[in-house]
Amino acid sequence: MRASNYLLATIKETPADAEVISHRLMLRAGLIRKLASGLYTWLPLGLRVLQKVTAIVRDEMNASGAMEVSMPVVQPAELWQESARWSTMGPELARFKDRHDRDFCLGPTHEEVITDLVRNEFSSYKQLPANLYQIQTKFRDERRPRFGVMRAREFIMKDAYSFHIDDASLQQTYEQMHACYCRIFDRLGLDYRAVIADSGNIGGSTSHEFHVLADSGEDQIVFSSESDYAANIELAAASLPAPDESAEIKAASEVDTGTCATIEEVAKELEQPSATIIKTLLVHAADDEGKPSDEMIALVLRGDQQLNETKASKLPGVATPIRFAGEDTIETLLGCTPGCLGPVKLPLKVYADHSAVVLRNFVCGANKQGFHLRNANWSDDCHYDEAVDIRTVQEGDPSPDGRGVLALKRGIEVGHIFQLGRKYSEALGASVLDENGRAVTMTMGCYGIGVTRIVAACIEQNHDPRGIIWPNNIAPFQLVIVQIDGHKSEQVREFSESIYAALQADGCEVLLDDRDKKTSPGVKFAESELLGIPHRLVISARGLADGSVEYTARRDGQKQSLPAEQALEFLAKTL
Ligand code: ATP
Ligand code: MG
Repeated sequence: MRASNYLLATIKETPADAEVISHRLMLRAGLIRKLASGLYTWLPLGLRVLQKVTAIVRDEMNASGAMEVSMPVVQPAELWQESARWSTMGPELARFKDRHDRDFCLGPTHEEVITDLVRNEFSSYKQLPANLYQIQTKFRDERRPRFGVMRAREFIMKDAYSFHIDDASLQQTYEQMHACYCRIFDRLGLDYRAVIADSGNIGGSTSHEFHVLADSGEDQIVFSSESDYAANIELAAASLPAPDESAEIKAASEVDTGTCATIEEVAKELEQPSATIIKTLLVHAADDEGKPSDEMIALVLRGDQQLNETKASKLPGVATPIRFAGEDTIETLLGCTPGCLGPVKLPLKVYADHSAVVLRNFVCGANKQGFHLRNANWSDDCHYDEAVDIRTVQEGDPSPDGRGVLALKRGIEVGHIFQLGRKYSEALGASVLDENGRAVTMTMGCYGIGVTRIVAACIEQNHDPRGIIWPNNIAPFQLVIVQIDGHKSEQVREFSESIYAALQADGCEVLLDDRDKKTSPGVKFAESELLGIPHRLVISARGLADGSVEYTARRDGQKQSLPAEQALEFLAKTL
């Protein structure tokens, strides 16, 4: 490609509303342009990268035996009513009516459509297992689109769905997909981790997320220092604390804590570390349909620990997502403000975190306005119904597998694999006949990759102050030839053209920067670095005068003078 005929839409200024480096660099290097919130156009250079990512994903999916299909973006409401997601999905699902007043939505994901396809097309266990995938546009009306294509409203996902006669077959395909994802992210040159993940309310059992490690990541993931244990913090299990039975049980006494409302205030007032104080949170119980009811449930934690809402929302009886009791509700129920709550004669079901249960002689709210209990004990003063794991793990906690301690890192979720089970196949009646001619509901897996998000995630990991540094496999071009003042030197022009033609003939992707009159050498250099093309060859009259050209690797910036006549041979080896 010749730069003189190519849309290199670079920007010098740092775009004001771009918060993360990948978003800034994607705009500055001219990979994308914003149309409206969460909607982006891919410019030629960006599209080249996106197509390379897509090709790697497709190649590995095909190699794993999955079959590519293409399903409509527009989906009829009836299917979503069958799965009940028409009513359970919030405003993220973009709905509209057609000219006949029928309800439709823009597909945020395709479980319903694929299950509908499979229930019609598949009839026998002999057709299973089957794994169908597509690489296609999704629309989710995200509450907070941000970070450019990282969290967009319209984005490209690779979504695959597998169908099985039994769980053992599902497990097998799940493991194949896990391995397939590792090959994809290896080929993309990403530093990533597969972590155990929450399967949310989608109804599955086993799930892993693939995270690209980056400080700008929205997710927090935890790792063991000694073992393979890695999990999303939403679900990372806390290890059981050893009870300390050495402390002698003391007699509780009420203490005046005035207007203290937070753990920090109580800790200061009573001169007690927050780890010896208990906090009590009231949440709504679930009604028969799982919606928040008027009944309350108490959740009790150690003062220095944080409630993990994902874990807590899975407790029997608790409404999902977690809904905290309002101050008025607490006042009416117990006659005090939230800061004075404690598991003391509390007429509610109480779930206590393991780390709170092992405490002795602790401080807790007295359920009396302005008072706490000092030296409270479970044996004498307080009660809980069940000891559970509802806290968020912290850096340095023992790993739940007993090996090593946990470290925290931030990650960008680029892939997610799921054992869905029979949630959709049951709801939509997708069954096949087994060996004995009996109808069996299929079990399902689903496997997503954020294709457009990968491009941004890759830049988060591969950049320096000068711009992007593409891994070879997804660079828009392998080589940029910077010809210096070609309009003044025929020799420069000819030599550049000859290298360009020879490499192109070899199938190499080369950008020839021939914008001579309009663009200064300085700008060409700066732009070649901003664009992140892995290899650069500079051809100048001065160099050619003593028979040399200059090669630079983008990643390490090392310049190397090459004899001009050996340039082709060198590049053929290096690229
Ligand atoms: P997130 O927690 O980031 O919202 P999700 O759990 O909703 O992701 P899935 O439904 O599992 O995501 O979708 C599969 C993949 O699609 C994700 O792993 C992610 O890489 C990508 N993805 C999801 N939402 C977006 C978005 N708004 N913009 C770009 N990519 C997205
Ligand atoms: Mg999401």
